[in-house]
Amino acid sequence: MEKELLIAELKKIAGEDRVVTDENAVLDASKDYIGFRRYERDAGHNRVPRAACVVMAKDTKMVSDVLRFLNENKQDVVPRTGGSSVTRGVEPAEGGVILDGSDMTGIFSIDEENMQVTARCGMPLEQLEKTLNEKGYTTGHMPQSLPMAQLGGLVATRSIGQFSTLYGGIEDLIVGLEAVLADGSVVRIKNVPRRSCGPDLRHLFVGSEGTMGFVTEVTLKIFKYRPKQRWLGSFAVKGMRQGLEIIADVMREGYKPAVVRLHDSVELKEVMHINVPDGMCLLLFIADGPRPLNRATARGVRRIALKHKALPLGKIPVNMWYKSRNDVCNDMDKPIYYNMGGIGDTCEISAGWSEIADIYETVIERLHNEIPGLAVAGGHASHCYSNGTNIYFQFMIREDDWRNAEQDYMSVIGVIMEETLKRGGSIAHHHGSGKYRTRWMPEEHGSSYELMYRIKDALDPNHILNKGVILVER
Ligand SMILES: Cc1cc2nc3c(=O)[nH]c(=O)nc-3n(C[C@H](O)[C@H](O)[C@H](O)COP(=O)(O)OP(=O)(O)OC[C@H]3O[C@@H](n4cnc5c(N)ncnc54)[C@H](O)[C@@H]3O)c2cc1C
Repeated sequence: MEKELLIAELKKIAGEDRVVTDENAVLDASKDYIGFRRYERDAGHNRVPRAACVVMAKDTKMVSDVLRFLNENKQDVVPRTGGSSVTRGVEPAEGGVILDGSDMTGIFSIDEENMQVTARCGMPLEQLEKTLNEKGYTTGHMPQSLPMAQLGGLVATRSIGQFSTLYGGIEDLIVGLEAVLADGSVVRIKNVPRRSCGPDLRHLFVGSEGTMGFVTEVTLKIFKYRPKQRWLGSFAVKGMRQGLEIIADVMREGYKPAVVRLHDSVELKEVMHINVPDGMCLLLFIADGPRPLNRATARGVRRIALKHKALPLGKIPVNMWYKSRNDVCNDMDKPIYYNMGGIGDTCEISAGWSEIADIYETVIERLHNEIPGLAVAGGHASHCYSNGTNIYFQFMIREDDWRNAEQDYMSVIGVIMEETLKRGGSIAHHHGSGKYRTRWMPEEHGSSYELMYRIKDALDPNHILNKGVILVER
């Protein structure tokens, strides 16, 4: 469809004032924060595909009307809320439409009896948390992007927060939702504690990254908010392998601290600026919940850490991390490691306890050996389970020419993907596939990948929703 006609029709459906065509505003809505795009933008170039317009949806009916029209006319569309994606997840298709739900804010209800909150897709998580905290509750969901992300995107990316070892990821917190399919049908999945009535349909949308429908409303569990009752503790450990062994023991013994983080010496020096004895790694813990439980967790964690000869450092390093943990969100337009003149970013994977230390060590070694211009390579583990954990790699490459940024960047990602897949891990722990990890999805999913196409064909038969994400185009 001609761009002018597409815009004119959308204005008829959504209203003149809800269709944004200003070139800079459209470009702004098309950007996300993947490292090489930030670097390109900083060099004065914006290489994202050009969308025809952004539609600022005001309610579920408008989302439904817009999607029905786009589907009938086979027009590409990308859903968007907070725009904090780091995977090229919100980059539009050339000439396509960005359907933005960030005006759909507001809390429908805080149900204190059933301990759940229902809000619209554009509700900023930080605002939701603030409102809940004032009433003595929390969602327990604290991603680093807390100041940026909104409910629709959090659900769509299968997000996880810094307190996940106790509260889990968004998949453990979501109770029910409302979504709109590509043909405009509105579906609601009701709020119940659990049910055994067929496959769990919430998971068609949790982690679907805008490829299966548009999430319009979300109900999450809530918990008592008791920050004053928390226990904070930290330890220096000899290396990542030793730190991972300690965490594995804590998890196997059945303790559930909310925050469990293991930072390597590179991150401590380059990013966190926390001093620990030379070359050592830092283990941070926070136990959250009622004080008696926190005390028991503290005793258990301390006993295990001391058995492994970890060096207790008290609560100061935890407070230092906690206070600055989301500061990076204050200036997201500067590339990571901006001051050091390079392209930097992060990439998170997961694997079982038997593989995770090998993945960490091999990736770091290979990056140093194989990537010319590599200046920094480090990482941390921050989301822990009884059967394994994640590694969140951080890297920086020095590059003089913005045109080479993507290629350099993808060489680093290639090493991380290869070593993870080789050892049976998952190539994306929480940022999602976006458009940059799609090429590895067939190997990630193996024989079950075919199911993804069958579900896509059923929910979005014209494949208009977020092309290039999760599904390799056939
Ligand atoms: C500094 C920084 C720190 C981060 N820290 C974390 C972290 O700790 N944990 C974590 O999990 N992630 C983190 N992220 C990644 C990002 O914040 C999350 O993926 C977040 O969930 C995205 O939410 P959003 O509202 O910004 O979504 P967007 O960026 O708008 O969209 C993300 C994806 O979801 C789809 N989408 C958006 N809205 C909808 C909707 N209503 N219906 C259907 N699909 C939709 C989009 O098409 C896109 O594919 C971080 C990002 C940054 C920049």
